[in-house]
Amino acid sequence: MNIATHAVQIGLEWDTRTGAVTVPIYQTATFRHPGLGQSTGYDYSRSGNPTRQALENGIARLDGGTRGFAYSSGMAAIANLMLLFKSGDHLIVTEDLYGGTCRLFDKIFCQYGLSFTYVDTSDIAAITAALQPSTVAVFVETLTNPLLKFADLPAISGLCKQNNLLLIADNTFLTPYLLRPLDVGADIAVYSATKYLAGHNDTVAGVVSVKDPELAEKVYFHQNSVGAVLGPQDSWLTIRGIKTLGVRMDRQQYNAGRIAEWLSAHPRITKVYYPGLTSHPDHALMKQQSNGFGAMIAFEVENHSLVEQVLLKTELISFAESLGGVESLITFPEVQTHADIPLELRARLGINNVLLRLSVGIEDCDDLIEDLRQALA
Ligand SMILES: *Cc1c(COP(=O)(O)O)cnc(C)c1O
Repeated sequence: MNIATHAVQIGLEWDTRTGAVTVPIYQTATFRHPGLGQSTGYDYSRSGNPTRQALENGIARLDGGTRGFAYSSGMAAIANLMLLFKSGDHLIVTEDLYGGTCRLFDKIFCQYGLSFTYVDTSDIAAITAALQPSTVAVFVETLTNPLLKFADLPAISGLCKQNNLLLIADNTFLTPYLLRPLDVGADIAVYSATKYLAGHNDTVAGVVSVKDPELAEKVYFHQNSVGAVLGPQDSWLTIRGIKTLGVRMDRQQYNAGRIAEWLSAHPRITKVYYPGLTSHPDHALMKQQSNGFGAMIAFEVENHSLVEQVLLKTELISFAESLGGVESLITFPEVQTHADIPLELRARLGINNVLLRLSVGIEDCDDLIEDLRQALA
């Protein structure tokens, strides 16, 4: 069955008593026990809540995992996964990483004895060169933020299996609709569900799916022990968002493809990063491995003063952080989302003072192009 169909069906079978088509919001902290030593399967909402469980089962099904987990944010999800490691462990990480993940690794987890080496994970030789005796895992973004490099998961997972490393894939930009990391060798997929999964810029959430049941049990132990779980209302909103994942993604990708072409031909745009363009270095690989190119575009304008002009003059497209929702958003990564990446690394990656990042929404494409046209004039 297509992922779009699975997505619509989340929670549908949940309430067999009334036949409610959507999963109820179980706004409760605790659950009555039917008898001594007995449980309905739910005892306390940190440990498990039916609305959250419907979401967790849903993401596991979308990803082909054995179990899913929902957290209060994408960062909470990633922080929980880092608890799988212990002092002395070394991880190899995608270099143009989401700024918040970089901050979590370099400012917090390194204090607890974890170490991280940043490499271009679209380059297998670079990953191999970074291996150390203490390396235990590789953490990649399947499509990177903001420069949209694509990770070759089958090749990376081959390397991980040879070296007995865990492979964790942040698949936020692609979602299971375009790529299922667990199918191509990842052990864990993690998402900021705030973005495409929930999809409406109305809630902050994180989800994880895991393949191996034993590993899933460890993840559950940490989820329950730390408690950064997603509340029932937000779980419901995330499910509601996921139901339209397929149609939103189709529309957003269509718009992004056209806008990327249009930007490429604009005289005041000097560079466009979009993997759907045949000029993108990962275009061919991504065409093979992914069901689409996503809807994020990064581009460079001809000079720095144009950055502020575009951010302030776009009307339909809001100057705001975040991405993946139905509303188009534009941001300036150097200052807004990637300020926590060390300057030297930013410069090497190409996150500079003329780079803008556009999250393309579901508006009419001609209207979006018209908005960009007047903002660039
Ligand atoms: C936004 C984002 C995160 C963090 O998720 P939050 O829900 O904001 O905590 C992690 N990874 C990527 C790729 C993101 O875009």
